[in-house]
Amino acid sequence: MAFEKRPLFDVHDPAFHTEQFAVGEDAKDALRHLRSEFIIPTKGDLKNKHFGPAANTNNYSPTTNSEPCTYLCGNSLGLQPRRTSEYIKRYLDTWASKGVYGHFKELEEGLPPWLHIDDAVKEQTAKIVGALPSEVVVMETLTANLHLLLASFYKPTKDRYKIIIEGKAFPSDYYAAISQLALHNLPSSALITITPSSPDSPYLSTEHILSVISQHHASTALVLLPGIQFYSGQFFQIDIITRHAQSLGITVGWDLAHAMGNVPLHLHDWNVDFAAWCNYKYMNGGPGVIGGLFVHERHGRVDTASPNGGSEGLVNGTIEGEEQLIYRPRLSGWWGSDKSARFRMDNKFVPIPGASGFQLSNPSALDMTAVTASLDVFAMTSMQELREKSLKLTAYLELRLQQYPDGKAPYRIITPLNPNERGAQLSVRLEPCLLDAVMEILEEEGVVVDERRPDVVRVAPAPLYNSFLDVHNFVTIFQRACKKAKKGLAETEESVMVENGKDLHH
Ligand SMILES: *Cc1c(COP(=O)(O)O)cnc(C)c1O
Repeated sequence: MAFEKRPLFDVHDPAFHTEQFAVGEDAKDALRHLRSEFIIPTKGDLKNKHFGPAANTNNYSPTTNSEPCTYLCGNSLGLQPRRTSEYIKRYLDTWASKGVYGHFKELEEGLPPWLHIDDAVKEQTAKIVGALPSEVVVMETLTANLHLLLASFYKPTKDRYKIIIEGKAFPSDYYAAISQLALHNLPSSALITITPSSPDSPYLSTEHILSVISQHHASTALVLLPGIQFYSGQFFQIDIITRHAQSLGITVGWDLAHAMGNVPLHLHDWNVDFAAWCNYKYMNGGPGVIGGLFVHERHGRVDTASPNGGSEGLVNGTIEGEEQLIYRPRLSGWWGSDKSARFRMDNKFVPIPGASGFQLSNPSALDMTAVTASLDVFAMTSMQELREKSLKLTAYLELRLQQYPDGKAPYRIITPLNPNERGAQLSVRLEPCLLDAVMEILEEEGVVVDERRPDVVRVAPAPLYNSFLDVHNFVTIFQRACKKAKKGLAETEESVMVENGKDLHH
C-alpha cells in the first residue's frame, strides 16, 4: 500500500537520541496534562511484595524507589485513572446509604441511578467507536459478547456455513468460532483461517485478506477479524474488508480489543455489522471489567408487523391478541427488554431498539462506575487528538529503535511500518534466545512491557498517559539489555564450544 511517510522527526539531528530531545517533545505535547490523570506505579511499587504503594510500607526508600516506572503495557492492562477510586467510593457510599433506592434515586451530585447507568455511558462510548449512541452498549465481557453476537449473526445454511478468521487469532476468538461451529454440528474444517504469505512476517495484506474471502465466499456465512491484531499490532482496513465481504453476501464482525481507545474508528459509517471489545486495555477500566458491543442501526430495529404478515423470518414475540414485533433473533434477558415493561414481569419481551436490546443482565454498577471514570478521562480529549499524538509517539519509538548504537540491532520490528496500518503498539522480534535475559533486565530497571514467547516483546506507548521520556527510557534500557544479553549468549556459546572441543580430544 502506498503511503507518504511525513518526516515527523529529523533523525540526523545529533540530539535526536538524547533525553533533552524527549523532554522537549513532552513540553510541546498538547495532551501532556492527561498523564496526571493516571496513577503511574513507581519502581518501588512494582518490586515490593505488598499490594499498596511502596510509600505505605516500611520498605519505602524514597531515594531509590519513588521514580515512576516506564509503563508501556496499556495494550494488556491500562493504568488506573486517579478518579477511579473516588468514583468507586461514591458508588460504595450510595449503596451504603441508599440500599435499593440507589437504583432509582437521582442524587444531587455524582453518578446516575444504577437503573440508568447503562444509558449514561452510551454517548461517550459511541464517540470512541464512531457510532450512534443507540448502536453501542456496555455489557458482559468480550468473549461472552462475541458468543452472544455470533448466536444472533451466525446463521449457517446448507450452502453458506463457513466462518473466516485469521490464522493467528487470539485463542479466545478461535475457541468462540470453533465452538459456534460445533453448536451447529459443523466440522472444524468449516473454519477458514487467513495465514500470512511469508513465514518471516505476520503481515496480512488487505489484498490477501480480500482474496481469501473471495475464494470461499460462496460457502461462507461470516467473517470475524480483529481491528488490531494483538500479536503483530497490525491495524486492518476495516472499511475495505467489510465492504468487500458484504458485497459477497457475508456478515462481518470485528473484535476491537486492541483497537478500542487506541485508534479512531467509524463503525457506523463503515457499515460494520457487529463488533465487541473489552474496556481494560487502552480503555483503562480495570482488569476484567465489563466490556461492550456494537450492533449496526439496521440490525437493531424493532418494528411492528403489518397485519398481513410478510415479516420474513424475523418474527418474534408472537403473543395472542398483541401486535407482533419484528426484530433480529438473539439470546435474550430481562435487561434487553424495554424499561417501561421491564418490571412488569409479564413475560412479554419487548427489545430496546439498538444494541441495548442485546443485554441480558443488570450490569455490575461497580464495573460501570470504573468504566465511567475511564470515559470521563477520554472525554477530556478526542480520538482524533489522541491519534495525532499517538502517531508521533509511535513514530518516535520506531525511529529510536532503528538507531542501534552497536552495529546491527539484534531485533526487528514486525509491526507494519506504515502508520496507517498500526496503532500505538510496536511488536519487536528479538534474535533467538535473547528474550529471557532482556526481560529480566527490563523488569529490574522498572520497564514494563509484554512478552510473547519465544521472541517477541510488545511495546505500547499509550497516548493518554505515556510520554516521549517514557519512550526514551525504554529504548535506552532495552538497547543496553540487548547488548548485555547478546554478550551473555556469546560467552555461553563460547564456553559450550570449549567444552565440546575438550570432548573431541578425549
Ligand atoms: C484481550 C483479548 C481478549 C480477552 O477476552 P476476555 O473475554 O475479555 O477475557 C479476547 N480477544 C482478543 C483479540 C483480545 O485481545
